[in-house]
Amino acid sequence: MSNDILVITEHMDGKFSDVSFEMVGKAKELANAWGGQSIAVVVGGGVSSNVFASDSTIHVDDAALSNFNPEAYGKVIEALVKEKSPKVVMFGWTATGMDLAAWLSAKLGVPCAAYVKNIGADMTMSCQAYGGKMSADVSPEGDMAIAACLAGSFPVEAGQGSTAATTMASPVDLGSLKVKFVEAIKPAGGDVDITSQVKLVSIGRGIGGKENVELAEELAGKIGATVSCSRPVVDAGWLPRTRQVGKSGLKVKPKLYLMLGISGAPEHLEGMKSAELIIAVNTDKKAPIFNVAHYGATADLFEVAEAMLELL
Ligand SMILES: Cc1cc2nc3c(=O)[nH]c(=O)nc-3n(C[C@H](O)[C@H](O)[C@H](O)COP(=O)(O)OP(=O)(O)OC[C@H]3O[C@@H](n4cnc5c(N)ncnc54)[C@H](O)[C@@H]3O)c2cc1C
Repeated sequence: MSNDILVITEHMDGKFSDVSFEMVGKAKELANAWGGQSIAVVVGGGVSSNVFASDSTIHVDDAALSNFNPEAYGKVIEALVKEKSPKVVMFGWTATGMDLAAWLSAKLGVPCAAYVKNIGADMTMSCQAYGGKMSADVSPEGDMAIAACLAGSFPVEAGQGSTAATTMASPVDLGSLKVKFVEAIKPAGGDVDITSQVKLVSIGRGIGGKENVELAEELAGKIGATVSCSRPVVDAGWLPRTRQVGKSGLKVKPKLYLMLGISGAPEHLEGMKSAELIIAVNTDKKAPIFNVAHYGATADLFEVAEAMLELL
């Protein structure tokens, strides 16, 4: 078993996700402390892989890896993990990372911690629970562990660099896969692009119902903003998916992000943490969003919205 850390990076449409750089930065820090190496792993083509600050980068390219396929990606990563015997394998706690980390954990009988916000030099992993309201420290048993890390936990810049990648063919046969990639379905266009808006009024489950969305729209109209939302609002059919901010929605970076009735779950924060000014209105003074917001009001959103409309 080595003291190395394998970071499984993610990319789409030729771009790496921020969490990939975040993990590489953290892996470097841990590798320095442990006397090991930080190794970035890139699976699949169509991307320039000389972009990490890792001690080394392995880029596995093969026609069967050109689109995400959990079976193919899993087999490749399993082979690399067996070869390198790292102390920690880091995945993003993302749609693809969830798929792969859990599978690899079961396949190799290695413990896996999810929702990881930090990893200590003693291997203690701090994990978020209950939508960010609680945190649990776990110490994995054995010589190897898998950490599925929440995006936004570590600085992006620490993982950015120019380490030249070593490109290799798949170390395993990918000829008889049971899982086939069919099609990537992208969100339908036609709606306003919330990623390019300067001001957003973002509503969460606290808005209570579709009939109340109009109030947020009226307020947004008065301040030259656009209405965005958390996932439950989309799931309930109150706004289209094009308005969803977060892990499974869009990443926004407005100058103003006014949040009405959003608790501040990690999956939502992932999409808006870089907003310049975050103002939260929530009736629950313990809502996690108050740890992130620059300004906050423990108040009823309807009272605040009505009061603002009167003033504007
Ligand atoms: C794989 C995965 C991907 C996900 N992707 C996303 C994503 O992209 N985006 C996303 O948002 N979520 C995502 N989620 C869901 C996420 O975990 C949370 O469940 C979600 O963000 C919660 O939305 P919310 O804050 O609107 O609702 P809640 O957590 O229910 O919070 C509602 C808040 O409104 C407050 N409230 C209620 N009434 C009022 C009132 N009258 N005035 C003021 N405040 C009030 C409450 O105190 C509460 O804090 C994802 C989850 C998973 C597992």
